[in-house]
Amino acid sequence: MQTEVVLGIGGNKGDRSSYLARAREALSREVMLISSSQVYETEAWGGVAENGSFLNQVLLVHTSLEPLALLKLTQAIELALGRTRDQHWGDRTIDIDILYFGDQVCSSSSLTIPHPYLTQRSFVLQPLAEILPKKIHPILRKTTLELLAECTDQGQISVWKQAK
Ligand code: AMP
Repeated sequence: MQTEVVLGIGGNKGDRSSYLARAREALSREVMLISSSQVYETEAWGGVAENGSFLNQVLLVHTSLEPLALLKLTQAIELALGRTRDQHWGDRTIDIDILYFGDQVCSSSSLTIPHPYLTQRSFVLQPLAEILPKKIHPILRKTTLELLAECTDQGQISVWKQAK
């Protein structure tokens, strides 16, 4: 059985656009990439990153993997692309978050779905609204557009263009 899964990918270290592309490529070898948002540029979140702004994107994929197997895959891709886990919210080449896993709700020491920070981050909600504006958050019972309208995140976010 295929599940509709939403992933958030982002990074602020090295060639950010190339890391996003490599993450998409690695993911598409294991899951079916259905659609992707534009790439957004956002201020570093959490106040600890030194390399500056992030590029972020949201992907809709279909997979037959179970949630923990998918987490294992995303973490293996993060590691393969050079991510180190020294600082929470610090600089990183690539971060892959599982935002939604169908309409499943789960909370364990290694995995919380829907992603707990989803509703607090406009850099997630804005690209999500592009590809899934009517997706309903299974706990809050609100659409992406409703969550975006209520989000108080003040971080600067804009569509990223390579030739800046
Ligand atoms: P971060 O440094 O923000 O990428 O957090 C990574 C940690 O969050 C990992 O140890 C994961 O086990 C955990 N985690 C919990 N829920 C999720 C989720 N929905 N997607 C990705 N990682 C998650």
